[in-house]
Amino acid sequence: NSATKAPPTPSPLRFSKYFQANMRILVTGGAGFIGSHLVDRLMENEKNEVIVADNYFTGSKENLKKWIGHPRFELIRHDVTEPLLVEVDQIYHLACPASPIFYKYNPVKTIKTNVIGTLNMLGLAKRVGARILLTSTSEVYGDPLVHPQDESYWGNVNPIGVRSCYDEGKRVAETLMFDYHRQHGIEIRIARIFNTYGPRMNIDDGRVVSNFIAQAIRKEPLTVQAPGTQTRSFCYVSDMVDGLIRLMEGENTGPINIGNPGEFTMMELAETVKELINPEVEIIEVENTPDDPRQRKPDITKAKELLGWEPKIKLRDGLPLMEEDFRRRLEVPREN
Ligand code: NAD
Ligand code: UDP
Ligand code: UDP
Repeated sequence: NSATKAPPTPSPLRFSKYFQANMRILVTGGAGFIGSHLVDRLMENEKNEVIVADNYFTGSKENLKKWIGHPRFELIRHDVTEPLLVEVDQIYHLACPASPIFYKYNPVKTIKTNVIGTLNMLGLAKRVGARILLTSTSEVYGDPLVHPQDESYWGNVNPIGVRSCYDEGKRVAETLMFDYHRQHGIEIRIARIFNTYGPRMNIDDGRVVSNFIAQAIRKEPLTVQAPGTQTRSFCYVSDMVDGLIRLMEGENTGPINIGNPGEFTMMELAETVKELINPEVEIIEVENTPDDPRQRKPDITKAKELLGWEPKIKLRDGLPLMEEDFRRRLEVPREN
């Protein structure tokens, strides 16, 4: 008779929140590019319930259509600059436009999203005792004076430039995270994400990989912004999602760089896209925008040592996967 049995001795592991059978996870910005891939991965685990809060500024329900109506999934139209009351165990806080043309479109809104939005998610984390991960950015290093960038570098950022709503916004968001951690004991995780690419990127969002692939498919010239020698390092989205989950589940607050250290000039990227997608296409040089960082490459020593993470997908292998998705959405099948 089980009623007469002594109760089991509680094991600290079994009773720790992170080993509970079910985990309720909030993903802000979950209808966007990285967020929707993260939701796909989290939903694969049957122990997870996922709530997405998104205002659809740059994301769409289309990205989540396979989960709408699923009993473990919930989608809320919500702007993170407003308070949010939900009961969750973990918060992946991604909400914020990531492409320069969108974050510059309404810079005051961008900074409110970064500052008030992050404050609200920290207030929520504090009330419910949730662990919170912020997707910060390599842009906190600005136009870096050290190369490659490691996490100890404080950055070279213009506080009054047209990019400041985004990069200074994320710097304040990081500050808020650490202040809530030190003052209120909130469990925080900070990822500094470097340029990420893959299926579901907005086709016309102005970022370089999406621009070049859409241009090559549409047989339009690839627009390399002058001088074309500026560099970036591109991480495929599945690698990024893997890094974010490892960071959330691990024991380190960060900040930790998550990115692919393979570094390319924009001219090399254009030549690679041309070779892989459309050898007939022209490459032209166009004017650049102000404050464009000249070089960027993550030092991922910390991610390797602390998270056991490094990217697996090379640019040459990731670009064709993205091409397939863009061809389907642009309704331009491959000729041959
Ligand atoms: P995205 O624009 O595709 O996704 C952002 C999502 O946030 C969208 O669904 C958008 O509708 C939502 N959103 C924006 N403002 C909001 C608000 N006020 N309230 C609620 N939802 C809001 O961008 P992404 O590439 O998926 O980026 C996700 C996160 O990763 C962002 O925080 C971004 O700063 C960071 N990041 C991305 C990159 C990259 O290369 N993609 C690089 C560095 C950092
Ligand atoms: N907040 C929220 N959801 C919650 C708890 C708080 O959105 O479940 C918001 C709250 O509206 C506030 C912010 O988070 O604007 C910071 O909350 P905190 O409790 O840290 O500060 P206070 O409310 O004392 O200013
Ligand atoms: N870029 C380019 N052609 C384009 C769009 C961007 O050469 O059509 C360049 C841009 O000048 C920058 C790099 O590509 O040097 C990356 O730009 P993106 O907007 O993708 O990301 P971020 O500047 O935020 O890294």
